[in-house]
Amino acid sequence: MEHLLTDTQRAWRDKARDFAEAEIHPRSLARDQIAAPAETFDWDLIRKGSALGIRTAAVPREYGGHGIDFTTQALMIAEMARADSAMAKTFSQSWKWSHLIVDHGNAEQKRRYFDAFVADDEFVMGGGITEPNAGSDNRMPPPDDPRAGLQLSARLDGDTWMLNGSKCYIANANIGKLIFAFARTDPHAPVQEGTTIFAVHKGAPGLNVGKVFNKHGWRFYQNAELFFENVRVADSDRLSAINGTHKKHGGKNSKFSEMEYAANAVGICDAAIDMATALGRGTQRAGTRLNEHQLFQLKLSEMHMHTEALRSFVLRVAMEADATTLISHKHNAFLMNFSADAMQRVCYLNLDVHRIAHKGVINARADKLVRDAIIWTHIAGDSVTRLKAVQALL
Ligand SMILES: Cc1cc2nc3c(=O)[nH]c(=O)nc-3n(C[C@H](O)[C@H](O)[C@H](O)COP(=O)(O)OP(=O)(O)OC[C@H]3O[C@@H](n4cnc5c(N)ncnc54)[C@H](O)[C@@H]3O)c2cc1C
Repeated sequence: MEHLLTDTQRAWRDKARDFAEAEIHPRSLARDQIAAPAETFDWDLIRKGSALGIRTAAVPREYGGHGIDFTTQALMIAEMARADSAMAKTFSQSWKWSHLIVDHGNAEQKRRYFDAFVADDEFVMGGGITEPNAGSDNRMPPPDDPRAGLQLSARLDGDTWMLNGSKCYIANANIGKLIFAFARTDPHAPVQEGTTIFAVHKGAPGLNVGKVFNKHGWRFYQNAELFFENVRVADSDRLSAINGTHKKHGGKNSKFSEMEYAANAVGICDAAIDMATALGRGTQRAGTRLNEHQLFQLKLSEMHMHTEALRSFVLRVAMEADATTLISHKHNAFLMNFSADAMQRVCYLNLDVHRIAHKGVINARADKLVRDAIIWTHIAGDSVTRLKAVQALL
């Protein structure tokens, strides 16, 4: 695919690779092994990535960012994820919400949010959709039932909105300076007809962070509960039209979401192949190097096969996203599920060859890759609901 890339795309990719090798990889295992989930985070990494323009890379140029295209985003995510998937996701999470601001914000909001975001090296953002009783229901609700889906309520009280309810699993909830809260502005309508997005600022009275989730994988990535108790939000911080969140179709955020995960999965696969290749070259079994054993060669070949198929699929979807205004929900859902299957197989094979070489002793990094890869089955929906939703389009 190299010949299809522009010089600008290659330059950003190489910048991400250098950053990943110099700053992300050396911190990866140590951060993963910190027991307390809120202490795995490392602001120094965010500041360094910010100084290189990585945090703000997806902000349009007219708002002080770098306006990189989807292909570049995919390439950079893969490079960073090769060093640490969760750290890569922490940077791309800010790209995701930059896209949301572009899609839903008016000119004044874009200026205000991006000015603050670009100026502050420690500014990260989050978005809250999931609630204790609303995960898959948000994506694939039973039709016409207002009880299904998110229940955080937003009521107009004078000239401000009053938010009450809770969210869970919200990335960056405990460290973010701006959280996009998806709230019900019409409790009698189905979730897809009664939801509005509000930008809630850190420190808003009545906004409280609950527990930070202690996850098996992506330990660096922060996920926390959020509680809203009479949180007042000015109407100027309402992003979408009232009840209009799901009525606005398309946009950068939709193009980005599944592609973001799949690009990250490419990086995890590359990391697994790096590990297995080094093991094969550096380990002796039965008098010969491991990589001269046919069983090992077959496993490594299978790892390459899945990884190259995934890389091609990611770049195809990213390039199509850059070239057209269309969004293929079908391809995005297939891409996300394929990335989970391919990556989990690749990581399993890597764990397997390390177990053979080390007589059953678990290698910490091979184990981390497996733990990170499991996240895909249950994020941004889950593998089952994604395929079920696509069925309707077939
Ligand atoms: C690391 C991580 C980060 C996350 N970050 C965020 C974030 O930043 N913001 C955010 O809003 N959310 C976030 N989430 C939440 C994520 O989007 C949800 O976990 C996901 O949408 C699934 O919802 P759930 O956990 O409630 O599972 P559920 O919806 O309860 O599903 C659990 C299981 O039940 C099955 N199931 C569900 N409904 C049905 C049905 N009707 N019939 C049969 N089977 C069913 C599903 O297929 C699945 O196997 C994050 C999650 C993770 C793991």
